[in-house]
Parts: sequence; C-alpha cells; structure tokens
Amino acid sequence: MSSSLLKKYNIPGPRYTSYPTVPYWDQNPSTEEWISALKISIKESTESGTGAAIYVHIPFCESLCTYCGCNNRITRNHGVSDPYITTILREFELYREKLGITGKLKLSELHLGGGTPTFLTPAELTRLLSGIFEHCESMDDHEFSIEVDPRVTSRAQLEVLRTFGFKRLSLGIQDFDPKVQDIVHRIQSVEEVKKITCDARDLDFTSVNFDLIYGLPFQTIQSIEQTVREVAELRPDRIAFYSYAHVPWIKAGQRRFTELDLPSGDEKRMLYERGRELLESAGYIEIGMDHFALKSDSLFISTQNGTLHRNFMGYTARKVNPILALGVSAIGDAWTVFAQNEKLLETYVERVERGEIPIARGHVLNAEDLILRRHILNLMTLMSTSWESPQEFVPFLGDIQKRLAELERDELLKIECNACKVTEKGRAFLRNICMAFDARLAQKSPETRLFSSTI
Ligand code: SF4
Repeated sequence: MSSSLLKKYNIPGPRYTSYPTVPYWDQNPSTEEWISALKISIKESTESGTGAAIYVHIPFCESLCTYCGCNNRITRNHGVSDPYITTILREFELYREKLGITGKLKLSELHLGGGTPTFLTPAELTRLLSGIFEHCESMDDHEFSIEVDPRVTSRAQLEVLRTFGFKRLSLGIQDFDPKVQDIVHRIQSVEEVKKITCDARDLDFTSVNFDLIYGLPFQTIQSIEQTVREVAELRPDRIAFYSYAHVPWIKAGQRRFTELDLPSGDEKRMLYERGRELLESAGYIEIGMDHFALKSDSLFISTQNGTLHRNFMGYTARKVNPILALGVSAIGDAWTVFAQNEKLLETYVERVERGEIPIARGHVLNAEDLILRRHILNLMTLMSTSWESPQEFVPFLGDIQKRLAELERDELLKIECNACKVTEKGRAFLRNICMAFDARLAQKSPETRLFSSTI
C-alpha cells in the first residue's frame, strides 16, 4: 500500500457502528418517543419471527487497561455487583411496564458487554440471567454472547453461561508481547487464554472469538507476528483485529504513553497488513472491516448469504432489531431512534430507582438519516451500495459521484451508474469511503478531535 495514500487518507473519522454517529446526534427523543419506537420495532420483530436483542452493560473492571475506550468503573470491591444487578433487573421491569409486555419477550440475541461481565461471580451471573429469562423466551436459533477477560474468568462462570444458552465467547487478548502488555497494563499469558479457550470448547461453546488490537505502544512487526502465530495455534473461530483508537484528550488512561511510543501511520498499517497475511495463510477470511473468521463460523456464512450486519457491538451475523439496552451508558436501537443511558453510574442508578427509563440522550432519525444509514451499512457489510431507486436516494446523494471521484481515481472504489463497489485496495479506507455518504459530517464543520484516525 502506497505511503502517499496512507498520508492522504489517514484523517480523523468515525468507525460507523451507527449512522448518524454519536457525536452528531442532535434530535433527542423524549422517553415517550423512545418507548413508542421500541414498541413498533418489537411488534415487527415478533411478527417477522426475528425476535429482539438485549444488550447488558456491566461496567466494572478490577484494573484499568490504558488503551481502553469503554465506559468502565475500576474497582476491586465486588460488593458493587449485587446492587447493580438489582438496578438492571428493575430497569428491565420498567421497560416491560412501559412497553405493556405481559407475556415473554421473544429473544434472539443477548449480549453481555462491558467493562468486564465476568466481574460477576457465577452466583451473580445466575441471578442476573434468571431475572432476564423469567420474562424472555429464547428463539430456536438464538445467539447469546459475552465478552470475557481471561484474567478473571473461571470454568464455573462458563458453565453458568452455557446453562442459559450462551454459545459465543469473546476473549480480550490485544497482544501477547510482554513489553506491550506492560505499557497497556494488561498482563495475561498465552496459558491463561488457552485454558479458557479449552474450557469453552469442552463446554460446547460453538464460537470462540479473540479480540486483538494493532497500533498499540511498542508493537512491532515481530511482536505482531508472534502474537498472531500464537493466536492461530489456538484456532479461534473469529478474530477482531481492531485499530487502536488514540484519543488521550477523551481517555486519560491513554496518557501513560505518548504518540512517540505508538507506531506511526505507515508502520501501523504494516502491522495490520502483516497480521492479515498471517491470518489468511492460517485459513481466516477477512470480513468487513478489521474482522476475520474461519469458513465454519456464522460471521463468514453471513457474508455468503448477505445477512452480515453491523451495530454498536460491531459485526453480527444477522440484523436483529430492536436492541433493548440495559445498564449504565448502554445504547439501544429501535432502527428509527437511538437512545443511550446515563453515562455516570450514580445518575443511572438514581434514575432507575426513581422509576424512570434512564436514557440521557439519543437521536430520532429523519428520512435522510434512514436512507444514508442503509448506504453506510451496505458499504460496511457488502462493500458496495447503490442509489438507483427513489427509496435509496436523497438530495445529498445528488453530487455523491463528485465526492467519490477522487476515491475512484485512487482506485479505492469503482463507480458504476448509480452504484459503487469498494476495491480490494479500498478495504483499508472503508471509513473514508463511508465519510462521503455522511451528510451530517459534511453539513457541520467536522469536529475532528471527536474521532480517532481512520487508518
Ligand atoms: S479493556 Fe476491558 S478490562 Fe480493560 S479496562 Fe477496558 S473494559 Fe476493562
């Protein structure tokens, strides 16, 4: 990849887990608007048989990883878990009351994220999940998943998760190099990861996923090669190979190192390219942006049958909507409306205790947002999009070909009539290509400090 292209396109830009992206949300929904959109989406999901999704955010972590961009609360006091579970279950109860759900909610996806969901003990996980499943019915082809930290996860926790139908596990690995682990304050051995991976397989988890990050301080081609080789030996079904997002002005933990410790634009991309080369030679297929899967994994299968989807949790094998989000800072999605809960734990708890749906902000999508959301999603999942029919067209797309012309000259995409297709070379610049379809970014002067660099 040419270094001039990297220089040209390595600019701050969104990762497009939503459109509009969170910094551009400017049409806050009232609680009534949010509930009404959710009601419609739940009705549609029940009628179509796709079922709904629930996301639960567990913010607690025992220590801070300095690269972290998540909403977390660092504590070693496990006394915080039980009251937090009470609040989550109360929030779910409030939703059922407001939505008028008297029977069981048909549940197709459940995802526990964080923070560290395995901060909860087996007994606490049992209490949380029993409280949810008392009011939900699992769809036959459900996909329940959890993010786990290998340092604090036990076989007993995995056993509880299997009892409730969890089949997918995402392990935060990031990098196995001791120097990198030290600076990012996340020391974990290959043996710890191997143990959890073997336990998960033994307990019949059908998809074990690893999360890796490239672009961390002190990473080198050699350290990436070593990490990827060790990872490939453990044979996870799916690998997310994320670009490190350096935003120290937002995340204070990232000030433990400086930009001088980080691989620069060209070097950083080479880390990805080398990692990709090794993963592909080990039988993994690149999917969407920054993801790899074995041919047997549902994420790969979804690229073959065209159901690959992307939401706040990253890539998923199919579109499930609505996402009912529980817990501090969690983001829900009713397709026409987004809503995010209070980000401060104490405020979130107070509002739930007062009997309020604890949303703090969100966005009611207008007609243009909905059409552009579809195009950006198409690009992120199918690597192509078309604006041929009136349902796919909005005035902002009137000069899309002009905005795409330079990307085409640089051979990052091909324009054909009213459609465009990302080229192999363009995959690395997917975020830049999506930016051409982002009316909100174009209309407001870009607040570049809100985003990390695209490459
Ligand atoms: S990376 Fe995960 S475990 Fe580390 S601080 Fe962030 S949320 Fe917690």
